[in-house]
Amino acid sequence: MSYLKQEPFGNASKQTTGFLMATIFHNYINGEWVASATGRTFEDRNPARWSDLIGLFPQSSAEDVDRAVAAARAAFPAWRRMPAPQRGEILRRAGDLLRARKDEIARAMTREMGKPFFETRGDVQEAIDTAYYAASETRRLFGHTVPSELPDKFNMTIRQPLGVVGVITAWNFPVAVPSWKIFPALACGNTVVFKPSEDAPHSGMLFVQTLIDAGVPPGVINLVHGDAEAGAALVEHPDVNAISFTGSSEVGSRIGGICGRLHKRCSLEMGGKNPLIVMEDADLDLVVNGVLWGAFGTTGQRCTATSRLILHEAVHDEVVERLCEEARRLRLGDGNEEGTDMGPLINQAALEKVQRYVEIGLKEGARLVLGGKRATGPGLDDGFFFEPTIFVDVRPEMRIAQEEIFGPVLSVLKVGSLEEAIEVANNVRYGLSSSIYTREIGRAFRAIQELEAGIVYVNAPTIGAEAHMPFGGVKQTGNGHREGGWEVFDFYTETKTVYIDYSGRLQRAQIDTAQD
Ligand code: NAD
Repeated sequence: MSYLKQEPFGNASKQTTGFLMATIFHNYINGEWVASATGRTFEDRNPARWSDLIGLFPQSSAEDVDRAVAAARAAFPAWRRMPAPQRGEILRRAGDLLRARKDEIARAMTREMGKPFFETRGDVQEAIDTAYYAASETRRLFGHTVPSELPDKFNMTIRQPLGVVGVITAWNFPVAVPSWKIFPALACGNTVVFKPSEDAPHSGMLFVQTLIDAGVPPGVINLVHGDAEAGAALVEHPDVNAISFTGSSEVGSRIGGICGRLHKRCSLEMGGKNPLIVMEDADLDLVVNGVLWGAFGTTGQRCTATSRLILHEAVHDEVVERLCEEARRLRLGDGNEEGTDMGPLINQAALEKVQRYVEIGLKEGARLVLGGKRATGPGLDDGFFFEPTIFVDVRPEMRIAQEEIFGPVLSVLKVGSLEEAIEVANNVRYGLSSSIYTREIGRAFRAIQELEAGIVYVNAPTIGAEAHMPFGGVKQTGNGHREGGWEVFDFYTETKTVYIDYSGRLQRAQIDTAQD
């Protein structure tokens, strides 16, 4: 087992594996970097240059999860008893460390999951904001005091942590999304077992390293790498009190079913098919910039990506033409190179999925006006690059208007009124983010009221969450919980109701207060 303590991110070593010199990474359990019980590993590669091997990560099993959960369980009593503001101090230090390491972590994230450096810096910034926000909330963590219906009696609620929380995340926001879950979970006094995506384990590890360096005690944060096998073991583990999951609706609904059977609290943040409505009175310069960013930022691989553009017929042709002109100019390439606007898709399977959806769209009768194929050429052939792609003549029932493609594919639908736009926007199984561009306040408010979505933007694209605002979706995007904002502190705490009777006699609620 390799273990180099002196490195700044001291958990990896170079080893020769066959003909290959590879960096070997470990799990972090009970304050120690350890190999997986199975001895198996998986490769982590750069999607912009597949020949670039980042390292080998442990392919963990139920046994590794068992050890991590046992460590988290043992660490729980001391952590929950530490005064919350002291826990907050540790989180604040983690925020400071993320800030100091921002560029270093962002470079590594871009190498691992492809989005350009300016975007990965934003990803780390979101984690910094979340750290400071969670730290400040440790001085509040309010309960309620309410009047009693009886004399000389005091009623209040207090918040208590849940216990061990299992955190399972997707790869596309490999630092921000874990931070949304782990910082508030720790702030509330829970201990954590974190399983990052198998497509972004290095970013997950760099995030955990900042927590360790900030002084999170052994066992309070544990990192277990791996795929569905490790994730499923965490969900099923009887000593895990809650699961916070971000990923696809398919996996999320399976996890929700298991948690229901096991009486486990469970927060699910899942897929999206986010509409952006443009009315005939909109500022079209603003629209074109917003759609470009919303649809092709992160190569369309955001849960909040603008994947349906719903255009009023009066502005349809002009917006499509201007969009194509601008999207054609986007520079594809390695996100760590200056000037890159759009990185690759995450892996071969994602590339094939996007290609499949282009074929489906054509077969359904939609018209391709931009892109539609793998991008090739100097600097692109070793990666999973795909051209920015725009379909017009898309009808609401088509699969490319209904299903999450998770790539740089925009489906454009034409409508004749706000009512029709809202009907089309709501006609999907997802409900994460949404947007309307209009100068008329009445239309904006109608959309705010009627759109079936957890988030509505007015005159801004469907992406751009802020750490202190609730984030999450309705319908098959979520299960009623929110990340971010105050709401997430509700998820990570149990409410305890306390009655203090200082009357010195037996008072019977509902009996001694009866009016009849
Ligand atoms: P995914 O569902 O394939 O995987 C997500 C995580 O779940 C990974 O860590 C994976 O190892 C784990 N997993 C897979 N099968 C499991 C099982 N049976 N039991 C337990 N864990 C299991 O998703 P992905 O491809 O990594 O990410 C893309 C998806 O994530 C998209 O649908 C996107 O919309 C969604 N997403 C949602 C949000 C949000 O906040 N709503 C944010 C980012 C991404």
